[in-house]
Amino acid sequence: MKYLGAHVSAAGGADQAVQRAVEIGATAFALFTKNQRQWQGKPLTDEAIAAFKQACRVHGFAPAQILPHDSYLINLGHPEAEGLDKSRAAFIDEMQRCEQLGLTLLNFHPGSHLNKISEADCLSRIAESINLALDATQGVTAVIENTAGQGTNLGWRFEHLASIIEQVDDKRRVGVCIDTCHAFAAGYDLRSAEATRATLDELGSVVGFEYLRGMHLNDAKSDFASRVDRHHSLGQGNIGLAAFTTIMQDARIDGIPMILETIEPEIWADELNWLRAQAPEAAPGR
Ligand SMILES: [Zn+2]
Ligand SMILES: [Zn+2]
Repeated sequence: MKYLGAHVSAAGGADQAVQRAVEIGATAFALFTKNQRQWQGKPLTDEAIAAFKQACRVHGFAPAQILPHDSYLINLGHPEAEGLDKSRAAFIDEMQRCEQLGLTLLNFHPGSHLNKISEADCLSRIAESINLALDATQGVTAVIENTAGQGTNLGWRFEHLASIIEQVDDKRRVGVCIDTCHAFAAGYDLRSAEATRATLDELGSVVGFEYLRGMHLNDAKSDFASRVDRHHSLGQGNIGLAAFTTIMQDARIDGIPMILETIEPEIWADELNWLRAQAPEAAPGR
């Protein structure tokens, strides 16, 4: 089964994100469990937790269909002690918020070396940050997102993801989320069915599909291998529709949330309908 949705707003509470997912006919969704541009979030109240769990129950969203995303401020590979400590504390808080909400996945960008440490050192720091967070929590998988490789962000090569996973102690609670726009901008071709299959094969051999815990389905305004992160609506960017048909029809991608982060929320319902039509048996509607 392929679960399809979008990154919906949680304004007004996490339960409101569920309602917004239902409104666009989604069978999956992503959300921020706190303001993504602030370090500190208000603690979740018992009422907010209960309302979220109730909404998920009523509308049939299991934890495997929900892919929360952490704050953009966190850098788990920070080269300096102060920034690293602050990021690790904030990440553990994000993991704990997921635990409280009964969620089992947390999607995050791996981190940046800021030109102050080597790539290898930065990847090791990221892995150690994940180890610390997994030690402090239970039942939540750390889902590393591939990046476009803007600036000094790591995670744009599949090898970076593999290296982090290799250094994580509990392999059952680490995974990856592949963002198509980021992959394309990082130099993984997706401009035809054939190119998309080759990129997926490379993902399988370098990382392994057993670690694939989510996907972000985005077309790209940015150019191929530009290392620039600019999302676009499906079929309107430089990737084109063939990649998304191929992904929908690939049986290796199954049982995970597949999330739109495309730029026009007004057409999310249409984009989801189009995706479903590429593989109606694998991706039934609500
Ligand atoms: Zn992301
Ligand atoms: Zn993404």
